[in-house]
Amino acid sequence: MDVKKSIENSNTYLMNTYKRFPIVLRKGRGIKVWGADGKEYLDFVGGIAVNALGHCYPKVVIALQKQAQRLIHVSNFYHIEPQIKLGKLLVEHSFADKVFFCNSGAEANEAAIKLARKYAKEHIGPERFEIITTHNSFHGRTLGALSATGQEKFQKGFEPLLPGFKHVPFDDVTALEKAITKKTCAVMLEPVQGEAGVKVPAPDYLKKVREICDAHGILLILDEVQTGIGRTGKLFAYEHFGITPDIMTLAKAMGGGAPIGAMLATEKVSEAFKPADHGTTFGGNPLVCAAALATIETILDDGLILDQCRRMGAYLMDKLNSLKKEFSSIILDVRGMGLLIGMEITRDCAPVVKACMDRGLLINCTAGTVLRFMPPLIVEEDDIDRMTEILQEVFERLS
Ligand SMILES: *Cc1c(COP(=O)(O)O)cnc(C)c1O
Repeated sequence: MDVKKSIENSNTYLMNTYKRFPIVLRKGRGIKVWGADGKEYLDFVGGIAVNALGHCYPKVVIALQKQAQRLIHVSNFYHIEPQIKLGKLLVEHSFADKVFFCNSGAEANEAAIKLARKYAKEHIGPERFEIITTHNSFHGRTLGALSATGQEKFQKGFEPLLPGFKHVPFDDVTALEKAITKKTCAVMLEPVQGEAGVKVPAPDYLKKVREICDAHGILLILDEVQTGIGRTGKLFAYEHFGITPDIMTLAKAMGGGAPIGAMLATEKVSEAFKPADHGTTFGGNPLVCAAALATIETILDDGLILDQCRRMGAYLMDKLNSLKKEFSSIILDVRGMGLLIGMEITRDCAPVVKACMDRGLLINCTAGTVLRFMPPLIVEEDDIDRMTEILQEVFERLS
């Protein structure tokens, strides 16, 4: 099937939920992907922070192949070996004592919202159900997670939303403290706002949020769906801020491309969930858990990949800051942590994304004017150099 026909069929048969670029991707290795027409691209989108180890990382491929031959799916009515191993690994490397597996970031946040409400009703007060989240946050597209999300553009047309969410400005502890009432059960935050345009809070913000939560006896939920699994240079972003949450959600990079999410919590909070309180058919299925085990074990192995992420993050930041000097009339700001970096420009970034794509570079645009860089954590200096060259060429033509 030729590319034109494929795209025609895509538009005919698939619901119109994505504004797709007119290319068909067929194959990937490391940081490169190839279109069905054979064109090669350098992939700085990485499946939106999913492909932490690049495309088709051999250990992940082999883990999937082996598990597919042994056992693909059984019900959560039974104990599942790869799920047990993955749970143990996550608990051993995080603040958490218990893990619940699901299939996506939105589902992980739904689980977090339900757990926080149940815990609060039983342990803080029966009238406690309200969750405070932040403006411009992104927590997913299901109705609960969408109600938690602090962006009207995602909510319009789907009202009425789920009650019980209150939004305050991000990185503003005074506003947060003021918003707490006798109904509040938790605060829910991204440590670094991703979708909002890579917003990094003040270094002491999360520490102050933790103190406020403790002072009021309410829970802190961190949405690490985008920042978790090494993206910021540590396994979890909270490790940078000297705090631990009560509940954390993960997804994106967790399965090396296989769809898996998780909600982690302390022992005390997890106890609010009893059998039949929550569940999912596919959550933590053997196949995706095998992929996640291979992914996380690789990232933890000797800390090499986390080290690479920190070094390449600094290198990329340097390069982008040089571009900022050169194109000061176009580039407003470069910010981020590890390999989650945003470059805010003075104009709509869609034409930049398009011009880069024509030159064989995939980059992402978020919040309208922010170019977001989320390459695999195994990205190398050569890739960053090539990416910068293309971006420079595109900015030259724009200015
Ligand atoms: C992507 C994302 C989600 C939603 O994850 P899905 O797997 O698309 O449901 C939730 N929170 C954050 C911070 C995200 O970046």
